Amino acid sequence: MKEYSNSVDTRIIKIDPDNIDWKYLQLAGQAIREGRLVAFPTETVYGLGADALNAEALLKIFQAKKRPFYDPLIVHIYNLKEIYDYVEFFPDVARTLGELFWPGPLTMVLKKSKSISDIVTSGLDTVAIRIPDHKVALGLIKEARRPIAAPSANLFSHTSPTTAWHVISDLKGSIDIIIDSGETLIGLESTVLDVTTSPLQILRLGGITFESLKKIIPDIIIADDHIKIKKAPGMLSRHYSPLAKLILVKDKDEKMIEKIRKIALQHRNKGKKVGVIACQENREKYSGFIVKVLGEAKDLNSCARNLYAQLRILDELKCDIIISENFEDIGMGRAIMDRLKRASRNC
Ligand code: AMP
Ligand code: MG
Repeated sequence: MKEYSNSVDTRIIKIDPDNIDWKYLQLAGQAIREGRLVAFPTETVYGLGADALNAEALLKIFQAKKRPFYDPLIVHIYNLKEIYDYVEFFPDVARTLGELFWPGPLTMVLKKSKSISDIVTSGLDTVAIRIPDHKVALGLIKEARRPIAAPSANLFSHTSPTTAWHVISDLKGSIDIIIDSGETLIGLESTVLDVTTSPLQILRLGGITFESLKKIIPDIIIADDHIKIKKAPGMLSRHYSPLAKLILVKDKDEKMIEKIRKIALQHRNKGKKVGVIACQENREKYSGFIVKVLGEAKDLNSCARNLYAQLRILDELKCDIIISENFEDIGMGRAIMDRLKRASRNC
């Protein structure tokens, strides 16, 4: 395979989702058809897209991201009708969920058909599929006339990109086109749901909450960590993480604030640069330290939207240590806590 990294002249194209200039999307769609890599916005985070039916193009994704081959890719399609080309079996429950939540941040794991190669699925007999809820993403899939395999457009294990600038800083020089359509709305990745098991299992918490899925499927469960590792191989290691070491403090209220201040002081006394991730209400409690606010504690959607961008800012400020408050483990808070826990792992 030809060396791909750091040899590409990356073109950056601005596309306004509310006033799409189709000639640029046609150009990007053609690039996908020709086997090139295009980073594009979705409602969750920016994705790094390639033709899901072109093995050589798929290999470029792994190379550009430095992503190990054991980590399977999500396939993005344009509408529900197309799904029958890529899955062997589309159960009724999956159809119901698709009709309710697509386009949207729900990825379903289904038995794959022969048209999906082992490169997409890392050799698994299932494929992860979703329809994104973003005019530019849908326009790109339509123009490409192909399903688009797209992991998040960041270097492997780094925080996912929520702006084109994040993509540029990780992948400029390694990919062909970056579409800039501003900040993403949700800011965390899709929920990954395995619909091949009974009961249905959530393999990754994300943009569609456990609570809203449970309303439709009362016996749905969140898979244990060891199942997640077995079934969703990309999730085993430290992931979604900033470059700085991240410490997640689990205590609540005043005890949490006290503990964060104590740990922050200890590290500062050792000459380390410390950043704190906090909710708006507690900002003042950490005066004297670099504080990045995610939003009001109760506004978990805003907190989710801002998480990765604020972690990246603390990295840009060259913090050695980031200490984070914990957030309520409910609704989008579950996904925030999931990412903070993974980012704070040592391995
Ligand atoms: P991302 O890099 O955010 O696109 O994440 C893709 C994740 O989806 C992978 O890391 C896997 O954990 C999960 N995934 C993709 N395909 C499958 C599959 N066939 N079975 C289970 N999980 C999958
Ligand atoms: Mg990713």
